[in-house]
Amino acid sequence: MGSVKVSQLTKEFSGVLALKNVSLDIKEGEFFALLGPSGCGKTTTMRCIAGFEQPTSGIIQLGETEVNHIPPNRRNCGMVFQSYALFPHMNVFDNVAYSLNIKQLNASNLVAKLPVYLRLLNRKLGNYPKYIEQKVMEILEYVELDQYAMRLTSELSGGQQQRVALARSLLMEPAVLLMDEPLSNLDQKLRHSMRNTIRRIQQDLGITTIFVTHDQEEAMSMADRVAVMDSGEVKQIGTPIELYSRPSTPFIANFVGTSNVLKGSVIGQENGFSIIKGKGFILKSTNHADQTEVNLIVRPENIKAFKPGTINEDKLTNIIDGTVLVSTYLGSIVRYDIKVDEYQLVVDTTFVPGEAILTEGEKVQLSIDPERVLII
Ligand code: ATP
Repeated sequence: MGSVKVSQLTKEFSGVLALKNVSLDIKEGEFFALLGPSGCGKTTTMRCIAGFEQPTSGIIQLGETEVNHIPPNRRNCGMVFQSYALFPHMNVFDNVAYSLNIKQLNASNLVAKLPVYLRLLNRKLGNYPKYIEQKVMEILEYVELDQYAMRLTSELSGGQQQRVALARSLLMEPAVLLMDEPLSNLDQKLRHSMRNTIRRIQQDLGITTIFVTHDQEEAMSMADRVAVMDSGEVKQIGTPIELYSRPSTPFIANFVGTSNVLKGSVIGQENGFSIIKGKGFILKSTNHADQTEVNLIVRPENIKAFKPGTINEDKLTNIIDGTVLVSTYLGSIVRYDIKVDEYQLVVDTTFVPGEAILTEGEKVQLSIDPERVLII
């Protein structure tokens, strides 16, 4: 059973409260990301699930079984670390096959363990029974490393080493795969291709995967659901689309993508719109406001920018005046920093070849669809 349930998990390290009442309900076969800034408790959560840390309080269930008192080697979790934890003096095949040896040891009871252990000590690495050879080669083929089976892992690229580490975990056929920042040692291009590889393998095998990262793009592009953590707490759990379109706090809005956060007061309701006034703007929102003092979240791509006089005021609402501070050409989009009173808004517009880019100091009119003005 590959589901994972964490209830009210708290972990204290000699005075440091690393986790405060963390609760997660991860479905079998789900790709679940733990996302948050450095020190927020992602790794500690994962280590508690794996059994490398004992919770101060709270319950961890793998499938239907409470595992708080079950040692790591009997939890059926595979782990892939940031550092890969490969043996540099061993070739790819031996590194991967090693996990089967460990599994044999773990699976056996104490008496049965002894002969296996002795066999392992005597065995010359690389000299394995046929069924192990077959299994290892199959998994190496799967991660496209069968050509490299006899090469030392120290002679591989970072991405190849990462795939060896992945193969080694997968070979143990764990119910749950735990991955702690597995891509952070790779360069940008390789990270992208490894994201696709890991996602493909995860979907192929339907293996429940918990993936720790501080990179929001990584979490959003790979995971079915994401838990955003901060200061030892889970702040919001949702699909990438839910988190992006309905962040529950300004912290999440800023952590999950770029966001403009405006402070304002609700000054009325009109035909189903909330009217919010703040410094330099009056905006309508289709969202309902429960209190008077609110934060407005507006994503950069939901603001349109016009040269003054070119805007059709009959068609567009929520028009505010601003001044261009910086314009940055980014290929398919142009990103503007625009000053509106005390705010510096980020505005992304599609680049249209032949159309002039607004320049620094130019006056500009902005328009925002009331449906895109989120009140939190
Ligand atoms: P990063 O992204 O930097 O790896 P993280 O979100 O994974 O960070 P954790 O490693 O879980 O964060 O750490 C959470 C908090 O617990 C931090 O304040 C950290 O300093 C503290 N901590 C973690 N392990 C220990 C330990 N063994 N002893 C004392 N404090 C610890």
